[in-house]
Formats: sequence, structure tokens, C-alpha cells
Amino acid sequence: MEKNIMYRIKGVTKCYDNGKKKIQALQEINLEIRKNEFIAILGASGCGKSTLLRMLAGFLEPTTGNIFVGGQRIEGPGPDRGMVFQAYTLFPWLNVYKNVEYGLKELKVPAKEREATVKQYLKDVGLEGFEAAYPKELSGGMKQRVAIARALATNPDSLLLDEPFGALDAQTRGHMQELTLEVWRKHPKTVVMVTHDIEEAVFMADRIVVMKSHPGAIREIVDVNLPRDRDFYIKSDPRFLQYKRDILGMIYEEMQEHEEKEMDA
Ligand code: ADP
Repeated sequence: MEKNIMYRIKGVTKCYDNGKKKIQALQEINLEIRKNEFIAILGASGCGKSTLLRMLAGFLEPTTGNIFVGGQRIEGPGPDRGMVFQAYTLFPWLNVYKNVEYGLKELKVPAKEREATVKQYLKDVGLEGFEAAYPKELSGGMKQRVAIARALATNPDSLLLDEPFGALDAQTRGHMQELTLEVWRKHPKTVVMVTHDIEEAVFMADRIVVMKSHPGAIREIVDVNLPRDRDFYIKSDPRFLQYKRDILGMIYEEMQEHEEKEMDA
């Protein structure tokens, strides 16, 4: 096995069966994700992005095929994989400090070490001084920063992000994208991020897995060859805009093909 591969997805399909109706959510997915690579899974709603991510997290099992992480078949969730969801999943009854500390306590990390770790990650996400605040007192962006600090605190090998900035306004979203890249550079991890935002995918990822729907499958994998020290300004670079145009073209083409198929049916 190649040593620098983190995830190996082999012949994975997923079919939901709710008794009355079967939905083929994903068909024949094959993908390898390298260690410390930043992957964006991009596509319109319903193309199976979350399904794929939830299988990587171990919350869902493939109907056929296998997924391996670090050479081991995924059998369920594990502390090697941290998740951040779109909807704020902080514990409302715990303050910021305790939310970030939670996973460390579960792993029985000694108190002194817990304190140092929580402080470090809260600093990294710019939330020093907010330790005592409760989630309801925080803005959306701040809540997602807590969620990122919490996911990172246990030092997982990978981070799985499901539309993490989807509920934020455009400005906060841009800021969170930059902050997340900064934190990722400081604490290298394999990141798999689901998004339907083309610009976000180009800005953040090393490779973009462009999905198609009906059923969900990989349409194309785009290598983003832009400098890695990306900041806000790269969004107006001609190369950046070309990636956006190319991917938009793929998505339009896919929508047209789908409409034609529907009309023929
Ligand atoms: P995306 O994240 O790209 O929006 P999803 O992975 O959520 O796509 O869904 C892919 C397809 O599977 C959709 O057609 C959706 O309706 C269906 N689906 C997702 N979750 C379930 C479920 N628990 N039961 C039945 N169908 C589901």
C-alpha cells in the first residue's frame, strides 16, 4: 500500500431503501485521498456529497465496496476523524472552553494537558477571552470557530467538513475560509470538505472532486495548481477565475445533460 494515502474509496455505491422506495445515492465511487491533502467535494444538492462524507466518517456503511482509512477498513466513527457540520452542533449547556475540552476528556487526557490544548486551539481560531461564553451568546462565525477548535483539539488525522460555512453571511464566510486555511497550515491534516460553492472549493482545495447527480458519481477531479499561501487577493487572479469558469462549465453541462435525459424519458 502506498504510504501517503489516507483514504482509499473502492467501488463504493450507496443505495437508500426506505421500504417503499429505493434511491441510488452514489454509484461506483473510486477515489484516493492523500495524507494532508485538502479535498473539496463539490456538486449540486442531491448528488451524494454528504452521503460520501458520512461514509468516510463511519456514520453510514456503503451498500457495496469498501472504504479504508490509513489502510484499515472503516467500520464506524473514530477519534482519528473530526467532524464539523453546517448546523452548529455545539453543546448549548457547555461554555466555549468546555465545548473544546469535551473530546479531550472523553479520551482521558490529563487536566493540565487539556488546559494547554484548549487554550492553544482557542487562540488559533481567534477566540481567546471567550472561554466562559455560551454558544447562544456567540455569532454564527464564532460558533463555527468553536466547532473547528473542538474538532482539532483531539488532534485527529483528518477533518471532515460538511458545508461548514454554509449558514454564514458572505463576509464571515470569506473570513472563515482564510482562518481555516491558516489553521490547516499550522496543523497539517487531511481535510475533506463538502461544499456547493465553486469559489470556496477553488480557494481552499488542492483537488476538487466535481460530482454529478442521478445517480451521484464523480464527474471530474480538478487539480488546483495555485500557490498554497492563498489569501483573499487570489480570488481575483486570472488563474483563479479560469478555474471557476471551467468548473461552472462542467456543472452547467451536467445540468443540461440531465434535463435532456428527463425530456427523453
Ligand atoms: P448532497 O449532500 O449532495 O445534497 P445527499 O448525500 O444528502 O446529497 O443525498 C443524495 C441522495 O440521497 C438524494 O437524492 C437524497 O434525497 C438521498 N438521501 C440522502 N439521505 C437519505 C436517507 N437517509 N434516506 C433516503 N434517501 C436519502
